[in-house]
Amino acid sequence: MRAIRFGPGGTVDLVDLPKPEPGEGELLVRVRAAGVCRTDLHLLHDVASGERAPLVPGHEIAGTVEKVGPGVARVRTGDAVVVHFELPCGRCRACVQKKTNLCQEGDALGFSLPGGYAEYVKVPEDNVLPAPANLEVEQAAILACSGATAYHTVVTLGGADERDLVVILGAGGVGLSAVQVARARGARVVAVDNREGARDAAKHLGAEAVTSPEDALAAILSKSKDRGADVVVDFVSTAETMELGIAALAPGGRLVEAAVGDEGVLVSPHLLMDKEIALLGAHSSTMADFARAVQLAEARLLVPVVARTGMLAEAAVILRELEEGKIVGRAALKP
Ligand SMILES: [Zn+2]
Ligand SMILES: [Zn+2]
Repeated sequence: MRAIRFGPGGTVDLVDLPKPEPGEGELLVRVRAAGVCRTDLHLLHDVASGERAPLVPGHEIAGTVEKVGPGVARVRTGDAVVVHFELPCGRCRACVQKKTNLCQEGDALGFSLPGGYAEYVKVPEDNVLPAPANLEVEQAAILACSGATAYHTVVTLGGADERDLVVILGAGGVGLSAVQVARARGARVVAVDNREGARDAAKHLGAEAVTSPEDALAAILSKSKDRGADVVVDFVSTAETMELGIAALAPGGRLVEAAVGDEGVLVSPHLLMDKEIALLGAHSSTMADFARAVQLAEARLLVPVVARTGMLAEAAVILRELEEGKIVGRAALKP
C-alpha cells in the first residue's frame, strides 16, 4: 500500500509498505480521509532533529472497514467508521480513572504506531465509532483530534455552559471546532485571531464577537460588562496569548492551555487566589470526548471546517501551507 513516511532528516516520502493484517480484536480500515493536524508538523520537526524515529503520521482518520480480525464482534466489513488515535493500556491508574488521555503506557496511531497517511491502517475495534452519516468523510475524519480536543478543552476541562462567556484564542482547525462546541453548550463566544479569514470563519460559526489579539481584552470586557471571560481556551499558547488569557479571566474563570508552547508568564499566587482562577493544561482527548463530538456532529452542531483536501502525494505541500498559516480550518488527505 502507499503511505507517507516522515523520514530521517525531515523528508516527507511517498513509500510502498506492506498492507497490515488485523489481529485479535483489530480491524483493517481503508482510509478515506486523514486530517492534517498541526501536531503532525511538530512530529515532522522531531523526526528531522532525530528526537523521534521515522513514522507514518495521521491521527484523524475516517474510512471503511476492509477486514475484521478474529474476535471482533461489534463492527462489520463495509462499515463507515471514524477512528480515535489513542490506544491506552487499560490497566494504569489514569486508565482506571477513565483519564485515558493521560496514560503513559499506551500507544497512539500516527505517533508510535502507523497512522492514517496511508491507504490502510490497522486499529483496535474499541477505537472506532460509526461515522456520522450527515458529514463528508473529510469532515468526519477531523472529529477524531480537532473535534474531540475541542470538546475536551471547552467542556471536559473548561466546564462551559449556557451562562458563560467563552474566549477562543486562535481560530484555526481546532479553534473553529471549539467555537461550535461552546455555542452548542449555549455559551457566548469571543474568537481571537490575527487572520481576517479565521475571524470571518469564527463569526460565521456563531462567535458573537471576533477580534484581533490587540483589541481582544477590550472586546472581552465590553461583552461581559467588565467581568471578563468564564473560560478561555488558548490554541496558540505563546507568552502573549497566555498573558491575554489570564488578564481576560473573570472571577472563578478557567484558562485552558491547549497548544505546545515553551515560553510562559510569571503568575503570582495572589492573582490566582484573589479571583480564584484556574490555569489548566489540555492533553489530547478521550474516547468519551470523541463520542460527544460525534454526537454533536450528528446533530449538526459541530461541522468541522475543511479548507482543502489533497492526495497523499501532496502531503509535503499541504504541511508547508499549514506551517505558513495559509490554511483556515483543516486540510485533509484523501488516499
Ligand atoms: Zn491532532
Ligand atoms: Zn493506561
